[in-house]
Amino acid sequence: MDLLSFFEKIKPIRTAFQYLKTFSLVACLAACNAGDDHAASDTAIKKSALVNELSTGRGFPLTSSIWRSTSLNVCWEMGGSEFVATKADRHLVRRFVTESWQAVSALRFTGWDDQCGSALRPFLIRISVQDVNPYVRRLGSFNENMPGGMVLNFTFQNYGYKSCQPGDFEHELCMKLVAVHEFGHALGFAHEQNRLDTPHEPAICDEAPQGQNGDAIFGPWDKESVMNYCAIKWMAHGNLSPVDIQMARAYYGTMRPDPASLQSSVGSIMSLVLEDDDQ
Ligand SMILES: [Zn+2]
Repeated sequence: MDLLSFFEKIKPIRTAFQYLKTFSLVACLAACNAGDDHAASDTAIKKSALVNELSTGRGFPLTSSIWRSTSLNVCWEMGGSEFVATKADRHLVRRFVTESWQAVSALRFTGWDDQCGSALRPFLIRISVQDVNPYVRRLGSFNENMPGGMVLNFTFQNYGYKSCQPGDFEHELCMKLVAVHEFGHALGFAHEQNRLDTPHEPAICDEAPQGQNGDAIFGPWDKESVMNYCAIKWMAHGNLSPVDIQMARAYYGTMRPDPASLQSSVGSIMSLVLEDDDQ
């Protein structure tokens, strides 16, 4: 079914909160158009022992698309006037990504205040804003430097719910759902309901696989994943599940020590040394 047509059928009836699950059908996409699955010999990020089982083509993370760096760049594909006009929503995206994927792992995103220009840069995700179904053209590093690699929606006029529109009561929620989900794809994570072990039972998950598949199974099937159409609260309202967090850490490392706390630790050690010297 055409997603927009499907969305328009239900749009007049419910709000985004009530239909977050359906919203996902439109919002998600992502991997939707992703199709580049050539093996990457340079995916050097160490895989965790938590990656416990290879599948036969479906799965969750697309391990060949895992970035070779935990420091990723983003930039905005837009002209000066649009760049100024979208400042508040661009900052919302930054906040939601920083508070989710970045907060729980060693990932660091930079460039939030950059316009893309034409120059190619390593580990760069190019983001444009259009009033269409949000999507990511490729999973993970296959999106590197790709024009229009990620498309987000800030206005929700032609797509989404009225309650998602700027100034309406679910705008931040819709921004969060889309940003966290799409950045999950940008990190190389496919839809959870695409896994071969998805329990396709009406009471559990009646959503069809969509978009590009992963090539590994990570942990148990996760109904509360932000990447799962079948989450009770769509994408857990943009809140990472415990398994989402474990996966981010498995592929991109654990959190780096906070510089302030590190400095404090160094200070404590030095104090002990000095105390020893005094004795
Ligand atoms: Zn998606």
